[in-house]
Amino acid sequence: MRYVDEFRDGTLAQGLAAAIAAEVQEDRRYNFMEFCGGHTHAISRYGVPDLLPPNVRMIHGPGCPVCVLPIGRIDLAIRLALDEGAILCTYADTLRIPASDGLSLMRAKARGGDIRMVYAVTDALRIARDHPDREVVFFAIGFETTTPPTAVAIRQAQAEGLRNFSVLCCHVLTPSAIMNILESPEVRELGTVPLDGFIGPAHVSTVIGSRPYAFFAEEYRKPVVIAGFEPLDVMQAIRMLVRQVNEGRAEVENEFTRAVTPEGNRKAQDLVSEVFELRRSFEWRGLGEVPYSALKIRVRYGELDAERRFDLRYQPVADNKACECGAILRGVKQPTDCKLFGTVCTPETPMGSCMVSSEGACAAH
Ligand code: SF4
Repeated sequence: MRYVDEFRDGTLAQGLAAAIAAEVQEDRRYNFMEFCGGHTHAISRYGVPDLLPPNVRMIHGPGCPVCVLPIGRIDLAIRLALDEGAILCTYADTLRIPASDGLSLMRAKARGGDIRMVYAVTDALRIARDHPDREVVFFAIGFETTTPPTAVAIRQAQAEGLRNFSVLCCHVLTPSAIMNILESPEVRELGTVPLDGFIGPAHVSTVIGSRPYAFFAEEYRKPVVIAGFEPLDVMQAIRMLVRQVNEGRAEVENEFTRAVTPEGNRKAQDLVSEVFELRRSFEWRGLGEVPYSALKIRVRYGELDAERRFDLRYQPVADNKACECGAILRGVKQPTDCKLFGTVCTPETPMGSCMVSSEGACAAH
């Protein structure tokens, strides 16, 4: 398949591995964070760490939308299904995230909640049209990639006068999360998470472009290389990061030129800013409250906002004490540092959010 097979070529991968090995300096360590869960998945699936020299280390970042959703947000969705009698529509991975009281959306469904897996927000719109006598809520999660389709659906619902449709908006923003990591005590003061550069997200960057990362490169002196999701993309990005570190540069470079431009997708950006505005603060699993890191629905579309319609009040809930997801999402720990990894907690029986999606660090491991 074009744009896929040529980026999975084993011979080329060996060649890139040799090129990286030739460029790394033996007396220094290279610690790079892949922000995005898509890269985490590719790195594990294709065995990229086995091809890297021992002094090049990849650190998983918080860019998996399922992993960063805090328990309190899942609880709100469960409440809509069980207490308000709404049809709750959401993407598949969200169904298995552990919530309060031993529940998940899947278990709430077993208790009688009308919770439906959808492939796209347009499926939720269709369900709302088919059930005019029922409230239908779309549980919207994800980074900048999944936000534009939600914005389209909200506009569509308003244009159609679809009064039984609303959105529980939990869309989050990539640059704020990167900033939070760079400002964290582990990176700034304690040095427990040494960071020499970032692999920037692929799909997110097709929407926001490469410009938003310039601030991190300039202010924090951290190189960023935006990379596609195939293994050769990741290897090439690592090589570009190694080269920047060796040369003392901190710039934004774009390996994923087949899809990402400096300005991104202007049409999608305009659509998103028409429908959404910044939240003052939003709780992330692992990162805690992060200012201006998520979106809410603008007042002009307020009747489609499930939080307003059902007068929902967010209640923070502490994570399972034994689960290390928080530390893993901040890059402080690795999945194998968790006592539950692979024993009590498996992809079939996830105890924490990082084991749910294939993009989660624990599931990928
Ligand atoms: S292995 Fe399971 S319990 Fe441990 S950190 Fe990962 S998701 Fe949490």
